[in-house]
Amino acid sequence: MLKPLLTSLLFGAALLASAPAALAQKTYLHCGRLLDMRSDRAQTAMTVVVENGRVLAVEKGYSSPTGPQDQVIDLKNRTVLPGLIDCHVHLEGETSKDNFLREFTENPADVAFGSLTHARKTLLAGFTTVRDLGGSGVNVALRNAINQGKVVGPRIFTARKAISGTGGHMDPTNGYRLDLMGIPGPMDGVINSPDEARQAVREQYKRGADLIKIASTGGVLSVAKDGSAAQMTEAEIRAVVETARDLGLAVACHAHGAEGMKRAIRAGVTSIEHGTLMDDETMKLMVKNGTWYVPTITAGKSVADSAKIPNYYPPLVTPKALAIGPKLQGTFGRAYKAGVKIAFGTDAAVFRHGANGLEFRYMVEAGMPPLAALRSATVSAAELLGQSENLGTLEAGKLADVVAVEGDPLQDIGAMQRVRFVMKQGVVYQP
Ligand SMILES: [Zn+2]
Repeated sequence: MLKPLLTSLLFGAALLASAPAALAQKTYLHCGRLLDMRSDRAQTAMTVVVENGRVLAVEKGYSSPTGPQDQVIDLKNRTVLPGLIDCHVHLEGETSKDNFLREFTENPADVAFGSLTHARKTLLAGFTTVRDLGGSGVNVALRNAINQGKVVGPRIFTARKAISGTGGHMDPTNGYRLDLMGIPGPMDGVINSPDEARQAVREQYKRGADLIKIASTGGVLSVAKDGSAAQMTEAEIRAVVETARDLGLAVACHAHGAEGMKRAIRAGVTSIEHGTLMDDETMKLMVKNGTWYVPTITAGKSVADSAKIPNYYPPLVTPKALAIGPKLQGTFGRAYKAGVKIAFGTDAAVFRHGANGLEFRYMVEAGMPPLAALRSATVSAAELLGQSENLGTLEAGKLADVVAVEGDPLQDIGAMQRVRFVMKQGVVYQP
């Protein structure tokens, strides 16, 4: 299944590169400080040579162009890194006080226009690749439009519509008036048996999903009472994982409570998202099974903040946000120390798109060294995506996704919020 996607990425590169190719054959990035994420240290005075959307070479010193049409970009007073990867965003929406009303007032075209702004902000914040972990299906069209060069945004791997049980975190009709509720089923991402789980996965695949997202426990922002208890049986999760595996899809699992996490890890999901109430036993199980953890600390902090604003959330949501939100950072710190594999993810949409870089600060605050935090958003995230051949480091042959920040993130992680240059697949986007 990765094959058609890769083909479309390559096609996208050719498409984007074809116009400027006549003007500039190669681009020479003169990097004052380079964190290529292959070595553990920063290198000074380096050149990254880019051609046809890929890195051609990484050279010591400031190399001079060889062809008359080559161009040089001066990043001598910047720190240069591989394009950043956020493994958990939702580009269709963004937090606001009237979010629950919007479901009844916005058409898919309205959602699509909104998503353009979110995609652009994300890219300009240095995030050249994201996993979109759930929306209505607009996220598939957005991915395609970006790949075709029609609109500006990060490279997207999308789960399309997320899956859970009736009344579960991903039931799209939670909190609706009874006559509007209907009986959503596998077509809407709502399942109540292993058979329905298989159908739901196949429906998402058929409609263009790159991976599968499920919720094995309750969640904070759904209009439902419980935010952490298990909501899918282990047999249902197993059916999801087996079906997804047949189709070449990874499974990302939203979970706050430990029981729902354990079921999902035993069933073989690829990643646990949030993982708020993770206990020691769960961490051991994750290490043993090689399960990834995508922490989303920024989302936890921001829902707790928003919940303090009167009537920001519906009454069922507020207590969950106050109880769950503040716990994420501590859980992350313990999971890191326990040796759980960590991939960077924020849950942007729960807070403003483009503020994704804040997560680095929270990770470092919780005890992760700056270099490890940077690895989580590059090398590790690329591994989680199954894209290590294309993404995650700056070296010959990889896609030319490059960002430059003001300052040295190894000394001051706040530099990751000062992105001053973004290149995606060889094309420069100015923040
Ligand atoms: Zn999410």
